[in-house]
Amino acid sequence: MTAPRPQPPIAMLAELTHRCPLSCPYCSNPLELARQEQELDTETWARVFDEAAGIGVLQLHLSGGEPASRRDLVELVSAARQAGLYTNLITSGIGLTQKRLQALDDAGLDHIQLSLQGTNAEIADEIGGYRGGFARKMQVAQWIGEIGFPLTLNAVLHRRNLHQLPRALEMALEMGARRIEVATVQFHGWALKNRAALMPSRDQARDATRQVAEARLRLKGQLVIDYVPADYHEDYPKRCMGGWGTSGLNITPEGRVLPCHAAESIPHLDFETVRRASLHEIWYESAAFNAYRGTDWMAEPCVSCERKTVDFGGCRCQALALAGDANATDPVCVKSPHHKALQAAAEAFAASTEDTLTYRQMIKAPV
Ligand code: SF4
Ligand code: SF4
Repeated sequence: MTAPRPQPPIAMLAELTHRCPLSCPYCSNPLELARQEQELDTETWARVFDEAAGIGVLQLHLSGGEPASRRDLVELVSAARQAGLYTNLITSGIGLTQKRLQALDDAGLDHIQLSLQGTNAEIADEIGGYRGGFARKMQVAQWIGEIGFPLTLNAVLHRRNLHQLPRALEMALEMGARRIEVATVQFHGWALKNRAALMPSRDQARDATRQVAEARLRLKGQLVIDYVPADYHEDYPKRCMGGWGTSGLNITPEGRVLPCHAAESIPHLDFETVRRASLHEIWYESAAFNAYRGTDWMAEPCVSCERKTVDFGGCRCQALALAGDANATDPVCVKSPHHKALQAAAEAFAASTEDTLTYRQMIKAPV
């Protein structure tokens, strides 16, 4: 029997650069960041946007690092619009001036997603590792409102700022955002190094879930609330990326094409680059995209589980990081043999008095 042909992708995340003025200790970028000279140039990105539209992508998320660190950001937005893609800029706001925002609007940028490291300067600047960042972000939020961009606020929460959730919801309303993503830190990339300093307690995690449920009712029709819970404290894993290779793809600054932003942490997979192969070929034919599609790769307990097409066994990168095997059941799952140990570790991290943060930084290549 042959496997059914995958559906075309709907969304593409283009990590234009890993450069960023901030250095958040939970950054999902890999530990080894791409250098500026390794980044795809404007022309290549424009070609990739055309290819993406050609295989069915509708939404393009321009991300990083900080995408505003690219001098050609306006040209890139323009190229994406010419390709017919809906464009969303995912930004910390740092590096955006009023003039630049106006140019992005003129180039056809459809939407902005603004990240929030905290709801006041004290916490936001400490977490972002950038003094004055909060004040600049508030100025950028005002310009975004004046130009009239549709806005999503992305509040990243953890032990040190979960108490600010009510204020983050208020700020989203004050800024005129249509949507807020309340994202509890997921422990990949740099966050994995900071679990002892950032892990919320189970009570904090439950309280956040309760607050989100209450706010969804209270703000219905005013604000859409997306919620990413603290999954170490959950009993079932998330359906990572909607299922491996089912609806979205990520492109790294150097042009490697990934099924999710952390996939390069799986060392036995080789990821093709847009410099050598077409997106069509990579999406439909590449071994990496086909590795965890569907359910054929699963072992027990997933293979005989009634939820196997609900969560597809959870996150492959997390299975590798926590169970040592990318084919294993995500240890967040209550049926995983590693689940109890993970929850005990989560409690221990949450009870830790560790408050030193390991900030994201460019690790220099050996000379
Ligand atoms: S998480 Fe922080 S450091 Fe990482 S790209 Fe976003 S703003 Fe920059
Ligand atoms: S056993 Fe596998 S498929 Fe079933 S709930 Fe757990 S992770 Fe999901």
